[in-house]
Amino acid sequence: MGSFSKLVFVSFGVINTVNAWGVLGHATVAYVAQHYLSSDTASWAQGVLGDTSDSYLANIASWADQYRLTSAGKWSAALHYIDAQDNPPSDCNVDYDRDCGDSGCSISAISNYTQRVSDGRLSASNTEEALKFLVHFLGDLTQPLHDESYEVGGNDIDVTFDGYKDNLHSDWDTYMPEKLVNGSSLSDAQSWADSLVKEIESGDFKAQAASWIEGDSISDVITTASRWASDANAFVCTVVMPDGAAALQTGDLYPTYYNSAIGTIELQIAKGGYRLGNWLNSIYSSKIAKRDFESFVETRDAAPAAAPAAAPDLSVREARPLSRAQLAREAMGGSCCKSRGREEDHEHQH
Ligand SMILES: [Zn+2]
Ligand SMILES: [Zn+2]
Repeated sequence: MGSFSKLVFVSFGVINTVNAWGVLGHATVAYVAQHYLSSDTASWAQGVLGDTSDSYLANIASWADQYRLTSAGKWSAALHYIDAQDNPPSDCNVDYDRDCGDSGCSISAISNYTQRVSDGRLSASNTEEALKFLVHFLGDLTQPLHDESYEVGGNDIDVTFDGYKDNLHSDWDTYMPEKLVNGSSLSDAQSWADSLVKEIESGDFKAQAASWIEGDSISDVITTASRWASDANAFVCTVVMPDGAAALQTGDLYPTYYNSAIGTIELQIAKGGYRLGNWLNSIYSSKIAKRDFESFVETRDAAPAAAPAAAPDLSVREARPLSRAQLAREAMGGSCCKSRGREEDHEHQH
């Protein structure tokens, strides 16, 4: 009995530490988004996912993190981030042409899956996959260290947080959010999302929420997602490591550093959910609803059905020599987030 529960605990800990924003963060982004979906968009998404529960987006929000760990899904690891080759803390910036690797990045992935989810010529399972990727990647993009190449997005910056030895990236993904809500379950995510929605509707975020989606356009995804990435990347210089990485490696990041960062974490989770809701509504209203109407008219007028063209694929990027940042990612197997289980460290420490 004792060894059984320990086994369960350890496996859960390992699963829990490999997610970007952790399971909690991604589920919270998803619940915020669900709040803002129109009823037509929600029905469409539930149909695509085959899930009519109250947690239809939250249930699949971390699927992409599990998928990239499988041999079939390894190719997708690079799509969880963009390695901005800037110079924090003095200079933060994202340049899509400079920073999106040859195997793709979060920005190209959002462009690709925005197109695919609304294509109408893909199989049900490919459409479902596209929606699951979109829900996840719009969340990843708002985590500042997913828009940064420095020390492999902070994965190689060893720190101490709340008595545990871990790395700066996993503290931002998982441990600081979990410290805030004191949990990591779907119901914790739901109540965090409820409080963020309240901030958007009538609290601290009310005045700025409109600016989070200003200019967002599904007809120019690269420009839109690049703006999202630049917005998050700016926090690397101002909040994540304003005095450089070395300053974070002395002493415990709790409570002083945590207190300086947690407001930005809440902002970015709220922003990710608000953007995702708006993005899916735009996809539904300008692609899906329009296409359904056109095919209705076409059928009614008995026009000959056009032969479906092959679905477009990810455009092939020109091969370029690997940058230092890309070589560092290669050394991490192209992953976004170190999968070191903190529970293991915990065991070693005690
Ligand atoms: Zn991550
Ligand atoms: Zn991810």
